[in-house]
Amino acid sequence: MENIAYVGLGSNMGNSKQTLQAVLEDLNQEPDLDVEQVSHFYVTDPVGMVDQDQFVNAVIKLKTSLTAEALLDVLHRYEQKYHRVRTIHWGPRTLDLDIELFNNDVINNAVLDVPHREMFNRLFVLVPLQEIMDKTHPKYQQVSDAINTLNGSQYIMRLDEIGK
Ligand code: ATP
Ligand code: CA
Ligand code: CA
Repeated sequence: MENIAYVGLGSNMGNSKQTLQAVLEDLNQEPDLDVEQVSHFYVTDPVGMVDQDQFVNAVIKLKTSLTAEALLDVLHRYEQKYHRVRTIHWGPRTLDLDIELFNNDVINNAVLDVPHREMFNRLFVLVPLQEIMDKTHPKYQQVSDAINTLNGSQYIMRLDEIGK
């Protein structure tokens, strides 16, 4: 389990909290990865295509023996399991699983851009990521700086603090 990946989870269709909890249980059963940390769940306003329901978002830290491409295949399999309907880009979805960071690797190929190309513009990724990120990670300072820059510009609240 030599690789460390941070994966973003998001849902804004159906029972989003339940879907995220269910996929976490599934990921815990996967042989080639260990879920090491799970952030709090956050309620966030949609970014990009804004005329849709709020999301529930979280970030998890994985240790894995998989390559980033093989990990993406596993994540896509779980998006399918939860009946993700891929209609509109940036539109509503039952489950979205993105690789935000994979070690400190830079990957740019037909299926993957890592670090995720939008992560530093998105509080719904940055806030839960910072909660669980290793303080010694080379990207930690950049994550903190981006949160300070974006603070207040995108709605984000902890799900447990708004009584849901
Ligand atoms: P965004 O990428 O802006 O968050 P999205 O999650 O709605 O938008 P999708 O339709 O879920 O976009 O993904 C489209 C494709 O993006 C995926 O099939 C995948 O090949 C590619 N992709 C590129 N980089 C990544 C990454 N870091 N994590 C997940 N998918 C990625
Ligand atoms: Ca996404
Ligand atoms: Ca995605």
